[in-house]
Amino acid sequence: MKSKTCQSCGMPMAKDEDFGTEKDGSKSKEYCTYCYQKGIFTEQDVTIDEMAKKGGAVMSHMFEIPMENAVKFSKEQLSCLERWAGRAILFCESCGMPMKKDEDFGREKDGSKSRKYCIFCYQNGAFTEPDLTKEEAVLKYAPMMARHLNMPLEKAKLMVGSYLSTLGRWQE
Ligand SMILES: [Zn+2]
Repeated sequence: MKSKTCQSCGMPMAKDEDFGTEKDGSKSKEYCTYCYQKGIFTEQDVTIDEMAKKGGAVMSHMFEIPMENAVKFSKEQLSCLERWAGRAILFCESCGMPMKKDEDFGREKDGSKSRKYCIFCYQNGAFTEPDLTKEEAVLKYAPMMARHLNMPLEKAKLMVGSYLSTLGRWQE
């Protein structure tokens, strides 16, 4: 089953119990069980900075990222989610880049915009690196991540690996 990302905290939601609930008890399509219950946010007044602090602390601990960098990164990620952006921003289903502007999107053969992939991953209706495996993608992105966040490469590989697993291209 394809996992979705909570549009409030960014947690991947795969199992039924990961999802929040609407007023009528049905499953929320957007938000996770920690953020959203019976049609309302569990923490209605929480700010993006508070959320980034919490998320950053977890990331910092798990992946040995300096706290300041982890909080900043966490805020960048959160700012692309519907709760904080005010609109749904699509992420590239191959590399995870948020596609905010028209020129960020890849292109189909007929020149129309791809709904799924970014311009770096997908051009003229095909992947720019069609044979790339998930393992190769991890090796490609992890060093950038390690440099960007000043974290150990081994931890960056774990982080990138688990992130890529949530993206369409790398699921089964
Ligand atoms: Zn991409």
